[in-house]
Amino acid sequence: MFRLGPAQDDERCARCGSVIAVRTLHHLLDPGVQRTERICHECGGLEDTPDSSLGLELQALRTARRGARFDVCLTVRNDTDDEIEGQCLAAVRRGSELGVTDNGSCQPLRVPPREQVAVRFGLRFAETAVVHQYDLQAVVVASTRVFMARVPLWLR
Ligand SMILES: [Zn+2]
Repeated sequence: MFRLGPAQDDERCARCGSVIAVRTLHHLLDPGVQRTERICHECGGLEDTPDSSLGLELQALRTARRGARFDVCLTVRNDTDDEIEGQCLAAVRRGSELGVTDNGSCQPLRVPPREQVAVRFGLRFAETAVVHQYDLQAVVVASTRVFMARVPLWLR
């Protein structure tokens, strides 16, 4: 039960250069609960956050190869004056069915005020995984708040 606020579209995607629509969903019964989504016209949903305290950017090559390790970098920017601690992970959506190893391994996260931290992950699709486009996702959990990022990933 959310109300959709007006969308802004003055941002550009760092990955592909397309316009990003930023929109906020407000809970109808609890106005303090909201989610802000950043959606690239080409890449799809990039970020889904409960507030503006953290900014997430998920970076990886656009294409992964079956059976080969691929590196993922999650950059977490702290836009507050307080240190933020939590846990983070990167995973391929439905990775357990696709035989992705190290999928969803948690790492501790500590981001000093007004700084950013890069966390690296290494994932690997099974040799038998189907060539297709998949969702590479990252999650940060800090003080019961859940921040999410996503980018599309081709498997060859
Ligand atoms: Zn894009």
